[in-house]
Amino acid sequence: MIIASVAIYFSSASFRKEDFYNRLRNKSRSTAKLLFDARDIDANRVLKIEKDNPVNLQNEKIIILNFKNDTVYSSDENGKIEIRNDVLERVRTGYRVTYKQGSFEVLGTLYFAKLDRFVVIAAATDIEGSLHLEKLKTILTIVCLISLLLFFIAGWFYSGRALKPISDVVKKVEDISITSLNLRVFEGNGTDEIGRLAKTFNKMLERLETSFAMQKDFIANASHELRTPLTSINGQLEVLMMKDRATTEYKSALGSVLDDIKSLIYLSNRLLLIARTSAEGPVNFNKTIRIDEILWQAQEEIKRFNSDYRINISIDNSLTDSDQMIVAGDEYLLKVAVSNIIDNACKYSPDHTVDIKLQHREKWIEIVFEDRGIGISEEDLQKIFEPFYRGTNALSIPGSGIGLPLVNQIIKNHNGIIKLSSQIGKGTSVIVLLPTIS
Ligand code: ADP
Repeated sequence: MIIASVAIYFSSASFRKEDFYNRLRNKSRSTAKLLFDARDIDANRVLKIEKDNPVNLQNEKIIILNFKNDTVYSSDENGKIEIRNDVLERVRTGYRVTYKQGSFEVLGTLYFAKLDRFVVIAAATDIEGSLHLEKLKTILTIVCLISLLLFFIAGWFYSGRALKPISDVVKKVEDISITSLNLRVFEGNGTDEIGRLAKTFNKMLERLETSFAMQKDFIANASHELRTPLTSINGQLEVLMMKDRATTEYKSALGSVLDDIKSLIYLSNRLLLIARTSAEGPVNFNKTIRIDEILWQAQEEIKRFNSDYRINISIDNSLTDSDQMIVAGDEYLLKVAVSNIIDNACKYSPDHTVDIKLQHREKWIEIVFEDRGIGISEEDLQKIFEPFYRGTNALSIPGSGIGLPLVNQIIKNHNGIIKLSSQIGKGTSVIVLLPTIS
């Protein structure tokens, strides 16, 4: 607005100036024509005629000088217009000279008549034009100020309206805390930027809510699992201390306490491993391990404590090179994972038998664990990787439900894949795929 106003003002000022000098030039030509071209008219008569001319400009003064600088005509009785030599010289060299003298605007032009060159100096004041210009300046200034004010009010109003959804989201988010993660921010139509932001935010809240709920469940389950053996130890020791007992009684009670302590150690170790592996996420391991060796070691360790377990390991013909069995990983964690799967397969099968097959699958090694046990129902399969979840048909067999979640986490950390398929009463097969280094 300011730039436009300034441009309007200056172009109007330049137009007024141009127009005024044109009028001055026309006036000086018509006076000179009257003086030199009309018959029987001398300077005095021209003066008289010009005095009453209705088209005279305001405060108009016309002075005409001949080649010798004698004034041949002048309507400037009071000598208000100063005639400078440099102006005369420039006019005589053919230039049109314009300049300001006080409130007068002066124009010097050359006029040819009677075989002589005359300099016509015409001067007048453009009071009307200047007044118009002043008025235009005031109008433009007022328009600019009013527009600025309107722009400010409109900008303030519209930006307030445009930003309102954001401030609504901010207000709502401020109300959301750990105890009120169920709250959601308003999504509006969900298609504009703010709607999409609110939608993304709600999705994040949903994920946070589920992970908080999972954590809560995990803590509740973990403390329950830890409390059970602790309560049992407490009870057994209290009963033991009620009176003096025979050595055999002490021995058997302490043996049972020791079992509880072992299960406590096992449980806390698993819990620590779950915490560690889930905190790490997928890892780039720099140690290489042969999967078949891990399986042989796991087989040996499990059989040491469970002599009735039958663990059959077979290597498929697709594996032609030992390099195809090498993976990058953590030996201890991988052994924990395969031992868990083997232990489950034997534990949940009446024949305590598991068939393990190693196969080559392009850049992967596939390990299939198959048993002919009690199986897992379709419903339980969906939740089997949730910590502390146990199959409905497995509750009579001792277990804690943290083995498979740990296995899942370990395989994921090794950038691997684990799949479970099962049929109730027929058996279960667990397929683990791990990326090989070859
Ligand atoms: P746990 O064996 O200590 O209960 P897991 O996390 O290892 O815990 O297993 C979770 C549940 O998955 C088990 O309670 C059982 O219901 C089911 N499950 C796992 N492996 C098998 C299997 N091979 N056959 C039948 N059910 C299984």
